[in-house]
Amino acid sequence: MGKSVYTFGAGKAEGKASQKALLGGKGANLAEMNLIGVPVPAGFTITTEECLNYGKNGEEATFAAIKSEVEAGVKLVEEIMGAEFGSNENPLLFSVRSGAAVSLPGMMDTVLNLGLNDETVEALAKKSGNERFAWDSYRRFMQMFGGVVLGVEAREGEHHDPYEVVLDEAKETKGVDDDTQLSVDDLKDVVAKFKVVTKEYSGQDFPKSPWDQLWAAVAAVFKSWDNERAIVYRNMQGIPHDIGTAVNVQSMVYGNMGENSATGVAFTRDAGTGEDIFNGEYLINAQGEDVVAGVRTPQEITIEGSKRWANRAGISEEERKAKFPSLEEAMPVACKELFAVETKLEDYFKDMQDLEFTIQDGRLWLLQTRTGKRTGAAMVTMAIEMLAQGMIDEKKAIMRVEPNKLDELLHPVFETAALAEANTMTTGLPASPGAATGKIVFFANDAAEWKANGEDVILVRIETSPEDIVGMDASNGILTARGGMTSHAAVVARGMGKCCVSGAADVKIDYHAKTMTINGTTLKEGDWLSLNGSTGEVLEGKIKTMDPEVGGDFGKLMDLCDKYTKMYVRTNADTPHDSKVARDFGAKGIGLTRTEHMFFEGERIKAVREMILSEDEAGRREALAKLLPMQREDFEGIFEVMSGFGVTVRLLDPPLHEFVPHEEDQQQEMADEMGLTLQEVKDKVESLSEFNPMLGHRGCRLGNTYPEITEMQARAIIEAALNCKAKGFDPKPEIMVPLIGTAKEFKMQEIIIRETAAKVFEEKGATIDFQVGTMIEIPRAALTADAVAKDAEFFSFGTNDLTQMTFGYSRDDAGKFLPIYIEKGLLEVDPFQQLDQTGVGQLVEMGTTKGRSVRPDLKVGICGEHGGEPKSVKFCHKVGMNYVSCSPYRVPIARLAAAQAAVEEM
Ligand code: PEP
Ligand code: MG
Repeated sequence: MGKSVYTFGAGKAEGKASQKALLGGKGANLAEMNLIGVPVPAGFTITTEECLNYGKNGEEATFAAIKSEVEAGVKLVEEIMGAEFGSNENPLLFSVRSGAAVSLPGMMDTVLNLGLNDETVEALAKKSGNERFAWDSYRRFMQMFGGVVLGVEAREGEHHDPYEVVLDEAKETKGVDDDTQLSVDDLKDVVAKFKVVTKEYSGQDFPKSPWDQLWAAVAAVFKSWDNERAIVYRNMQGIPHDIGTAVNVQSMVYGNMGENSATGVAFTRDAGTGEDIFNGEYLINAQGEDVVAGVRTPQEITIEGSKRWANRAGISEEERKAKFPSLEEAMPVACKELFAVETKLEDYFKDMQDLEFTIQDGRLWLLQTRTGKRTGAAMVTMAIEMLAQGMIDEKKAIMRVEPNKLDELLHPVFETAALAEANTMTTGLPASPGAATGKIVFFANDAAEWKANGEDVILVRIETSPEDIVGMDASNGILTARGGMTSHAAVVARGMGKCCVSGAADVKIDYHAKTMTINGTTLKEGDWLSLNGSTGEVLEGKIKTMDPEVGGDFGKLMDLCDKYTKMYVRTNADTPHDSKVARDFGAKGIGLTRTEHMFFEGERIKAVREMILSEDEAGRREALAKLLPMQREDFEGIFEVMSGFGVTVRLLDPPLHEFVPHEEDQQQEMADEMGLTLQEVKDKVESLSEFNPMLGHRGCRLGNTYPEITEMQARAIIEAALNCKAKGFDPKPEIMVPLIGTAKEFKMQEIIIRETAAKVFEEKGATIDFQVGTMIEIPRAALTADAVAKDAEFFSFGTNDLTQMTFGYSRDDAGKFLPIYIEKGLLEVDPFQQLDQTGVGQLVEMGTTKGRSVRPDLKVGICGEHGGEPKSVKFCHKVGMNYVSCSPYRVPIARLAAAQAAVEEM
């Protein structure tokens, strides 16, 4: 049998930092701090394995197996600390804390002062010479132990913790506000009442024996691993359920032993900005929970921080010095030691540390050190500065930044203070990050109109369609009641870098009344609303936003990524503007231009509709001729911006019904414009309706049934490229056929494209290199990729459709059941957000391998939404793709993820 208990103390430790899986993060670092000479109260860690054993074999068997090791651990701590657990003369007290390999905030609270009872409290009073301190510790212990271990809590219908009720009554009787004003006798009375409360609420007497207390606390930590909040949190964060938590039993030190004692938390660098400034807060004569509880105002550790704080709070220098001095001023000796320790810890762990410390009678003790959490901006700054300081190397700097956190740097954010006071009405899907605030409008044309009048608007729709593009563009943010992460609203918003919350099912919209109701609250057109696209929160009213600062460190990080990456990053963009944004973010080309998005601008939609309504080929050709110059102009703009890089233009893809109006007033308008009757328009719209449009007349099926559409688009692309070349640019057109399922479907389109190009070359007396390739987004295309690659010069995996068709989940309807599937554990993540490597990934891998088996230099990329999702990007690297393509604002994220994939492989 392996070892179950690892002791530490007095500069020695049985464990070490690398044993996080076995000792948990806290336990492993407590051991390591001992080894490097940082003062840590002695203690021991019971391993995570025993937590798993506890779940499997039960309490009796597990405790029997570890009993002697725990007893030996206690003995060692007794020797080091010169006190005895349970002694009525010289009692040793413990803190008991959970600690898994990854931090699970709020899983189990800490129990402090364990070992106190009616006898040991007297001994503690004598030993410390501070009776009040002893009784205060006792009542705190009872309260924590009762709540955490015995499950004492407010009953249904009660609003307060029953212990708090007792404490409040004591304060009221005494006529004081603060519990520090309660006397020893008051506290004794509180303790007596706590015993009654414990019995009443838990059905058992408060355990007197310190050993009983210890075992019960250990059991509570083990049990807490499987409590509901821990399970929910693990599900949310994708943390495995089978790693267990360790238990840390550590000798108490006291920050509440008088004016020469204190407790605090600190960060070795600024977690908000990343600046290399040591900072933190402390309280004199207090225990750990007082700092976080917010009852007393914590003070700053450094003089500099303290002055800055006072300045912000409008407190004069005299008042600051008198009432809120820094630790540097109040306890200069201990503080100097703390400075030395923080430097040592950061140098040793080579990352920003988040510390907990206690000063007992002037002597500094460290209770915890761990890697500190930080904002996206701080993450980048710290990585680059630590690299410059020689603390980490380039590869580590790349790995230090979480790709998704870069998002925070690229979109507006809410002001923290304003957000804290906001009312969250409901939560939808975080479809496109950022913060947005504006007045509610329900129709796209209203959005455009209001915006033109200088208003900030939020567009609220049941769902959006291509018709809404202009209105979406005019809005600060978009909220939809339906639709998932690849719904129209989500995809378009991400492309625009615009905040979007989609699929907020609680939002009930009444288009007629122009109102929306969320859980009983009704808001009307013109009311203020705010959206947090990074969390999916829908917030009432107007919340202040600010622009994020993108500093030079960001650029340095991106340069570093280019040095290591094997894949390059393209963008999905439909306009010169988006292409420019993406190029500025480092995109090397375009992986997908959805030509249909260009069909909605201005007068174009009329020509598109004319084409759709035509009865025969001649009529369609006439309408297409009107579209040709407009498409050509679009492509020229994009080729110019992306000069020198490949630009993949996809032929028309969506089902035609998306281009015709479905509301009667708009149908009438269209009838008037085209000289038709309303009924004729209605009939045509009706004739375009399909039972399952996603699997209907779309993609290459359009071009193969109406070849003239492909001809027009191919001509527009080639002519645009020739024009750009004549102007001195270096266009590299790649024409992409969508939604093929057979090699023949591709071949037929390829012939049309090549014949059209040959004609244009002849007409113009000029040529240009171009490629013809295809999307792989139908499973059959992946399965027969070798046949397809005989003719296709490149593949681009359309993993939105490929996911839809592999799972059989409709992209537009999955929002109804996916959240429930995830909640019930049927799916771990939304496969439209994160590529399903097990299933869909097989098709991607197979398609790539089979394609390259007949065409070794086949260029392979991805243009589904997954192309901007870090885990999926790393998968693309493994498969050997040449590039990933994603919306402009995700380009930096994809660049970082691609570089990390390369570094991870080294
Ligand atoms: C896809 O299916 O992954 C894709 C990129 O095409 P769209 O989203 O336009 O269907
Ligand atoms: Mg598709």
